[in-house]
Amino acid sequence: MSAAGPLRDEVAGLLRRLISCDTSNPPGREAQAAAVLEEHLRPAGLECRRISTDPDRPNLLVRLPGAGAGPSLGFLGHLDVVATRREDWAVEPFAGIERDGAIWGRGAVDMKCQVAASAVALATLAREGFRPAGDLMLLLMADEEVGDAGVGSTYFVEALPDLCPDFIVGEGSGERLPTPDGPVYLLDCGVKASASATLTVRGRAGDASLGQAGHDALAELGRLLTRLREHRSPVRIHEAIGPVLDALGGAGTDEQRLARARAADPALDRLLGALTRSIIHATIVDVPAPQNAIPDRAVATLSCILVPGTTEEELEQELRTALGDGPYDLEIVPPKGGLISSADTPLRAAIEAFLAEHDPEARLLPALGYGFSDCDVMREKYGSVAYGFIPFRHGDPMVNLETKHGADERVLVDDLVFQTQAALSVARAIGRLTTRSSASVSSAAPSTITPAAASPSR
Ligand SMILES: [Zn+2]
Repeated sequence: MSAAGPLRDEVAGLLRRLISCDTSNPPGREAQAAAVLEEHLRPAGLECRRISTDPDRPNLLVRLPGAGAGPSLGFLGHLDVVATRREDWAVEPFAGIERDGAIWGRGAVDMKCQVAASAVALATLAREGFRPAGDLMLLLMADEEVGDAGVGSTYFVEALPDLCPDFIVGEGSGERLPTPDGPVYLLDCGVKASASATLTVRGRAGDASLGQAGHDALAELGRLLTRLREHRSPVRIHEAIGPVLDALGGAGTDEQRLARARAADPALDRLLGALTRSIIHATIVDVPAPQNAIPDRAVATLSCILVPGTTEEELEQELRTALGDGPYDLEIVPPKGGLISSADTPLRAAIEAFLAEHDPEARLLPALGYGFSDCDVMREKYGSVAYGFIPFRHGDPMVNLETKHGADERVLVDDLVFQTQAALSVARAIGRLTTRSSASVSSAAPSTITPAAASPSR
């Protein structure tokens, strides 16, 4: 086995142990995963500190202290995973099974792979006696996937208001996308904004055993949700995806450039489709009626993931257009997030330098993330330059997109090693910087948007 052998065994072993901690959220119970990490990291000489308001649900801060005034770097991860059903899986999801060169299990991709990779990278540096100029850290959060228990990142940043890492690498893009112009990786410099809406349909109760009784709110909700599914949201091209269009879209209008970039690869097509319009799904339905009565009320919660800069009014307008007239009320929780970090920083340079060495054909293209990530909390509270980036050099990108939050999630061990090498390389590069002046703070204002004419996208 190559020199990567011991590293490979260490990171694969750690990931398998982390997957074996069932941190399905709810209820999370992230303490088990925190304990596994402490047990692994303390003997390497790293400081581990639980930042918790609920002992079952700690956040974990791991630190390799810096010597001087260099910029600090945090690898941001989360310890919880999305709940899943065992019977949907080909393997036991909480066993950390290694099969066909991959480690299978809930959280293998989202995101215990990166947690294990960055933990092993810091342990390796600590064992070597590497002394960074600024602090190198792991910031491992509870309750990222649900986020309403008040124990995760929002608690963490309130408890440690002065931590303010200059640079953060968190979850996000990183699939290697083959295109006719060569392979590319996306770098998430921001994430789309998140909002939600409650759609309440009013009906009239009646005897469910009598034909034509009452007015069925559930059937009406079904009709409205069908309309919502058929709605094509207008295309909005945010300037943060400009580098992708420049690299892959050629000349022409933004719409033509987007179409060309989308055609470059099926996974890229899916990603860019999500990044350039509102993505609205009903994710929770509540019908509080007795079994023998026609439901007089049906409530759907709509997840609304928006191009940054989309206002509450624009979202409401879009929803009303999509739903049309009907006996319903709509209540909107305004969009949150959507901050974007500068793409021109030493952190990006460090990631590019790693790729130049380990995947020289590939290019790194700044873009946006399609879903919420705690990176957004760090941008907002700490002003950190935060990028979402977990590189998958070897795996099929569509497997990630299909299995994340679904079943049969798995990561190739080769990718896990690649992620560890990336974390090591980036940590060394940032750890050697002795000036903080180049650590530019993220731009808080949403960038401008080019609203394009409503056009069918796929
Ligand atoms: Zn995640």
